[in-house]
Amino acid sequence: MCGIVGYVGYKEVGPVLLDGLKRLEYRGYDSAGIAVRTSEGKIEIRKREGKLSQLTNELNGSAPRGTLGMGHTRWATHGAPNDVNAHPHTDESGRVVVIHNGIIENYAELREELKTRGHVFQSQTDTEIFAHLVEEEFAKRGNAGAVNFIDAVRAALKLVRGAYSFVVMDARVPDLIIGARHFSPLIVGVGENENLFASDIPALLEHTRKALIIQDGEVVALTHDAVRIFTLDGESVEREPFEVTWDVTSAEKGGYPTFFTKEIFEQPAALANALRGRVDTDGVHLPELDAIDFERIERAHIVACGTSYHAGLAAKLALEQWVRVPVNVEIASEYRYASPVVDGKTLLILITQSGETADTLACFRLAKERGAQTLALTNVVGSSITRGADAVIYLRVGPEIGVVATKTYTAQVALLELVALWWAIRNGRMTNDERRITLSTFLRLPDLVEATLGAEQQAKSLAEKLTAHRSAFFFGRGFGYVAALEGALKLKEVSYLHAEAYAAGELKHGPIAMLDPEIPVIAIATRSATLDKVVSNMQEVRARRAPVIAIATEGDTFIAQHADDVIYIPSAPEHLVPILALAPLQLLSYYVAVARGCDVDQPRNLAKSVTVE
Ligand code: GLU
Repeated sequence: MCGIVGYVGYKEVGPVLLDGLKRLEYRGYDSAGIAVRTSEGKIEIRKREGKLSQLTNELNGSAPRGTLGMGHTRWATHGAPNDVNAHPHTDESGRVVVIHNGIIENYAELREELKTRGHVFQSQTDTEIFAHLVEEEFAKRGNAGAVNFIDAVRAALKLVRGAYSFVVMDARVPDLIIGARHFSPLIVGVGENENLFASDIPALLEHTRKALIIQDGEVVALTHDAVRIFTLDGESVEREPFEVTWDVTSAEKGGYPTFFTKEIFEQPAALANALRGRVDTDGVHLPELDAIDFERIERAHIVACGTSYHAGLAAKLALEQWVRVPVNVEIASEYRYASPVVDGKTLLILITQSGETADTLACFRLAKERGAQTLALTNVVGSSITRGADAVIYLRVGPEIGVVATKTYTAQVALLELVALWWAIRNGRMTNDERRITLSTFLRLPDLVEATLGAEQQAKSLAEKLTAHRSAFFFGRGFGYVAALEGALKLKEVSYLHAEAYAAGELKHGPIAMLDPEIPVIAIATRSATLDKVVSNMQEVRARRAPVIAIATEGDTFIAQHADDVIYIPSAPEHLVPILALAPLQLLSYYVAVARGCDVDQPRNLAKSVTVE
């Protein structure tokens, strides 16, 4: 995920690009860069590691001058966040200039092929190969005119696989900038004697309110006075722009009232991104894991804090069930001061959204000293946890701005379970049928999560009931217990309503003493081998006159006899419950928080990245 801006028109392009990038910085901020085509036909590039302000300060009002250009704020996926890997990228002649959002899945093979044909690479990014491909295709086509340039971009696009939006220009072609999209966002702003590309609407609003959505598989050529859309095969597409009515602030949140809600609704797309290229009907593809010697592993320790710890609990269940390897899940601040039995036979799995969580980093160092192999799961490329880990799996869900984790949690669970599936298949622990069914479940996951978002209105009305209470309990068993833990944490974090989660069978060992009509209980009562037990626990609760809200599997209408309210989620294997139950619970906590007047995006006392002990 990153922010892209492209401009062709009559204005001085430097400030246009920097202002546009500022509006998109929420999409990525590990480095930033701009490229300008000067009126003499030269390409001038300025790029810098760090936040956009770093680049802006260095330019100090003297950006290269011209009226055609592009800018990028990066969220690294391939190659560390540094000056060289910052976008824009060029071919070796420096004429073809590219910015990119997404991942080119076949970049390694394309890079090798290009190298054998004499291309020299400057960066470690997947993006750079595209500049070289366009240059080759352009060179094949005779004169360096606009039509040949568009053809060359189309031809190059046919060679890449994966997710992208690209913006491309060439020093030799004045008054033309080309964009293309496949699974990553890109829109056009249609102006008067100027046209723009951007990843998102906020970057356009300074210049125009007329926007045009580009569809996957389309290529768009912008000149100062025309917008032409083509398919990859070169057929023309007609589409009318629409009028944007949002103001800039709500546009940054994609029209949602908060980043928290935006990120809740982003989860289907975020999961699609996290899983893309990593699972298909043939199997799980996680080349990251090749760096680990699984033959040596006798046990796994999963170490994390907060929400990541909950994702770790789901991973334990999947690993023990599918791989039959013993797993401990540990809270990082405990593990580091305990006497963990960790050695060369241990795989230490570290989960940290930011990659900077102080306690998790301390465990990482401790385990490494004792010879453990380490696998890190993080959303931030180049973060501290990635340095020295034997293997790193990136979440690839783009920056999460809301302080309270949503999409990073669901992606953590999905990817950790995918690791478990990969390991089980590797060890020959799954029958062909189990393997086929589980793989296809992962492929359906984004759609299943999309369906759970339909619970919004119900969550809203249930929130009205919850708001008046002083405390809430959550419970479940197995994977449902994980969902209960994470659901309770969401409620606490955003609404400050006291919430506790218990394994459903534990309730009668103490907490049941608390129950009365003033304490609602949220029961994760989805279909599982232990559903009958959960239903009995719901009965125990109701006997104490505590109101029960159940999260149940679509079609299980009998649950309604045991609960005051039921939220249904799609039918799916149990291991997906920690993901599928969450969107309704996240939405429930959101509406409780709103009713209680809380700052949902920045709850009091919380920090996004906990870099202190
Ligand atoms: N894969 C590209 C990179 O790592 C683009 C990442 C992005 O979308 O910012 O540079």
